[in-house]
Amino acid sequence: MSKKNIVVVGGGYAGLSVINKLEGTLPSNYRIVLVEKQEFMFLRLAAARASTSEDISDQVLVAYDRVFKSQDVGVVVKASVTQIKPHSVVISTPHDLFGSEIDFEYLVCQTAPQF
Ligand SMILES: Cc1cc2nc3c(=O)[nH]c(=O)nc-3n(C[C@H](O)[C@H](O)[C@H](O)COP(=O)(O)OP(=O)(O)OC[C@H]3O[C@@H](n4cnc5c(N)ncnc54)[C@H](O)[C@@H]3O)c2cc1C
Repeated sequence: MSKKNIVVVGGGYAGLSVINKLEGTLPSNYRIVLVEKQEFMFLRLAAARASTSEDISDQVLVAYDRVFKSQDVGVVVKASVTQIKPHSVVISTPHDLFGSEIDFEYLVCQTAPQF
């Protein structure tokens, strides 16, 4: 049976905290799909600490491929969402599994305003 997608757009603090909550209670017929345009999350607080004496530079950028334990729970798609339709999102770069459009049962949009 194919899985239903919960698509989360944006892997910032808000998107990742939603994923964190969902992972623990996800029904087996659902999968989380994180669509994020960057390869790494930039941890701003860690960046401030890294500018002092501690060597924590490896923790300033966290690779998104570490978000999910298995593809059964979630998949990371590195792309920008360019369009939101009633039941799908269109992405900038085609993905092996989904192509250029990802169907969703639920959509969480956490792209944040740009500073
Ligand atoms: C320089 C700086 C320092 C800060 N310092 C602090 C601090 O010390 N303490 C504090 O509490 N707050 C701080 N903030 C604010 C804090 O970073 C934001 O409140 C927080 O990042 C908001 O989280 P978010 O998940 O809503 O957005 P973001 O963290 O901005 O995440 C949004 C994500 O969506 C992705 N995205 C956007 N559009 C698309 C798209 N179309 N398709 C796919 N992905 C997309 C982006 O790449 C990004 O990863 C700081 C902000 C800045 C700029």
